[in-house]
Amino acid sequence: SSVVRPQSDIRPSRRVAAAERHGLRGALTDEAHELSAAGRPVIDLGLGDPAAHGIPAPPTVLATLHERVDDARSYSDEAGHLTVRTAVAEHFRTRLALPGVAPSDVRLGNGVSELALLTLHTLLDPGDEVLVPDPGYPMWSAYTSLCDGTAVPYPCPESDGWRPDPDAVSRLAGPRTRALVVINPVNPTGAVWSAETLEGLAAVARAHGLVLFSDEIYDGIRFVPGPHVPLAAHAPDLLCLTFGGLSKFSRLPGLRAGWVVASHPPGVGRAYLDAVASLAALRLSPNSAGQYAVPAALSAPALRDAAALTEPGGALHQARSAARTAMARQPRLRCTSQDGTFYAFPRLDLPAGTTATDFARRLLREKSVLAMPGEQFGHDGALSTHLRLTTLAPPAQTASAIERIGDLLTEMWTE
Ligand code: PLP
Repeated sequence: SSVVRPQSDIRPSRRVAAAERHGLRGALTDEAHELSAAGRPVIDLGLGDPAAHGIPAPPTVLATLHERVDDARSYSDEAGHLTVRTAVAEHFRTRLALPGVAPSDVRLGNGVSELALLTLHTLLDPGDEVLVPDPGYPMWSAYTSLCDGTAVPYPCPESDGWRPDPDAVSRLAGPRTRALVVINPVNPTGAVWSAETLEGLAAVARAHGLVLFSDEIYDGIRFVPGPHVPLAAHAPDLLCLTFGGLSKFSRLPGLRAGWVVASHPPGVGRAYLDAVASLAALRLSPNSAGQYAVPAALSAPALRDAAALTEPGGALHQARSAARTAMARQPRLRCTSQDGTFYAFPRLDLPAGTTATDFARRLLREKSVLAMPGEQFGHDGALSTHLRLTTLAPPAQTASAIERIGDLLTEMWTE
């Protein structure tokens, strides 16, 4: 039989081709890896991987992982091992102010990333809309478009401390809006949203019948007083999906261990959650080894170990302080406070006609520093003057990288 279509015609689907541009692991990161491989030392303030910067995981978690490696040979239930779900439910009940959470409300997955795709995929029909924070972690809008939905960015202006005005968010909701995404603490801005903001956003979901998607992967990483309070605690009468995992505070992103907790009044969202379970069953189960680390990571010693990172003397506290001190010395850099996460999101005073993307490319090629341009985190035009820096590297490296950013800015203004 003759070949109807030659293999030279192979192309990505329109869906994926459209979503691809949101990826953070783009050309810049590849170029940085090539430079490093060729022997040029690059200071990496790009990807948010604490392990890559040598911040160790809690020793008890690693010990558990080694002990359980033999048990991890099998599949688990599609929702994850019951013992592990029980530990997550207990964590939410006792430490996160959500007394109603049961193991059956918990689903484990290969990171927040997989669970975000599963839950959006199950919710969206073509043309459905999802409200996403702008700026925000681009995965949420990328997955929305991958699921044939439309991401509707809601502004979180720098002038308001990178926080949204819930009334403005409400005005963006329409008949096709199905969900409201919240990321708190926020990647890329480092903002921690107040209880008032969260209550306002819950009210928007209530008024428009939206599912709340709350990405709280940075919940343990805060530099302001008081405990992390999940959005769901402000919305006990609503279906709220709270996402978290071991990638950030436990410093184990390679394990791909995450969870989503569905809180809801009795019966609300049942058909939807059952459909999520059916879709999850198609991929059989999440990675078993990653799951076994979860109860250990949520045990008191490991949580104390994580909390120490953000206290004076802790690795994250030191890197953040080094970044703040170094940024304060640079007249062409302005950074709104970093209350949580391990990111700083300074504004650059760039010569007219230059964007953060241009700047980041030159920064890598001329100064051997990898940082992410602001445009990658949303649609707001103001982002093209911002740069996202991780505050994970040792203080001296962080300071040196910021000095090079200042040097490049000076050079660009005198060119
Ligand atoms: N959500 C946010 C806001 C993130 O910044 C990241 C990773 O940087 C993720 C989710 C991905 O999490 P995971 O490693 O659990 O897939």
